[in-house]
Amino acid sequence: MLKSKEQDNPFISIIAPAYNEEGNIMKFYERTSQVLSSLTNNYEIIFINDGSSDDTMLILARLADEDKKVKVISFSKNFGHQVAVSAGLDHAKGDAVVIIDTDLQDPPEVISDMLISWRKGYEVINARRRTRKDSFLKVLTAKIFYRLLNVLVSNDIPEDVGDFRMLDRKAVNALRLIKEKERYIRGLTNWIGFEQSFVLYDRDERLSGKTHYPVRKMIQLALTAIFSFSSFPLKLANLLAFIFLVIGAGVVGYALAVDFMGETIPGWTSQVLINLSFSITQLFVLGIISEYIGRIHKQVQDRPMYIISDIINIEN
Ligand code: UDP
Ligand code: MG
Repeated sequence: MLKSKEQDNPFISIIAPAYNEEGNIMKFYERTSQVLSSLTNNYEIIFINDGSSDDTMLILARLADEDKKVKVISFSKNFGHQVAVSAGLDHAKGDAVVIIDTDLQDPPEVISDMLISWRKGYEVINARRRTRKDSFLKVLTAKIFYRLLNVLVSNDIPEDVGDFRMLDRKAVNALRLIKEKERYIRGLTNWIGFEQSFVLYDRDERLSGKTHYPVRKMIQLALTAIFSFSSFPLKLANLLAFIFLVIGAGVVGYALAVDFMGETIPGWTSQVLINLSFSITQLFVLGIISEYIGRIHKQVQDRPMYIISDIINIEN
C-alpha cells in the first residue's frame, strides 16, 4: 500500500559514478545542483571516482573543496560501474537516493518527476527510456537482451530501464543487505520488491568522451544478469542430455538392427558426427557449469568489493 510522504525538505543523495569523465563533471554538477536546490535544502552529490586516469579526480577534489555538498569516494583502481554504484549506496545518507550517470545521458531534471512519485509513496522509481540516442547496435542489442533475459528469468526485470532511478531509504537498506560480488543492480532493485513506479524520459547523447561500456563489458554484464538471476542454463544441460539420449537410443537401435540383418556399414562419417556432437555438447555444458563455479569461487574468496584510496567530505 502506498503511504504518501509530506516531508518538505527530504534529504536527497545523488550517486554519480565517474570513470574518465573530465569533460562532463562540471556541467553535470551545475545542472544537478540546480535541480536539487529547487527541490530541497538537504542534498549531497556523491561522486565515485572509479580509477579514472584523466583529470576527473582533480576536478572533483576542487569541487568538493568549494561545495561541501559534494562528496567524493575515490577507488584505488577501476572496479566497474556496478561496484561504484554499490559504494555509493554504502555511503549515501539520503531519505531518497538517486543513481545517475555523470555523462548527462540521464537528464538530472527527471529527478523532479521522481520526487513527485516518491512523495506519493513509491519506493523504487525507475526511469524508463522513451527514446535514446545511442548507436543502432547498442539499441538493438539492448532490446534483444532485455527480451531474452525476461524469457530466462522468472523475476520480471522491467524492460528499457537502466540504472537511472530513485530509491527510498528502505530500498537502499534492503540492497545493502545483498552481499553478491558479481551484481546486476537493475535486477536486484527489482528483486527486493517494494512499491515500484516508472517515469518516462528521453535519453540524451553523451556530452563528451565515449562510452565505457564496449561490447565486451556489455556481454559481461549480460552474463552476470543471466547467471545471477537464472538457473535455466543448468537446466539446459539436462535438456541437452535428454535430447541426445533420445538420439543416442535411436542410433543404437539402428546400429543393432543393421548388424542383425548382417549388413556392414561403412560408418566413418556417422562416427565422426556422433563423436563431434557429443563432445561439443559436453564442452558446452562444462562451460555453463564453469560460469557458475567461477561466480561461487569469487563469492567464497570474499574479497572486499572495492578498495577506497581517498574520501572527501564524508565522515564515517
Ligand atoms: N562508469 C564507471 N566505471 C566504469 C564504466 C563506467 O563508473 O568502469 C560510469 C561512467 O563514468 C558513467 C556511467 O558509469 O557515469 C555509465 O557509463 P557509460 O556512459 O560509459 O555507459 P553507457 O551509458 O554507454 O552505457
Ligand atoms: Mg553513458
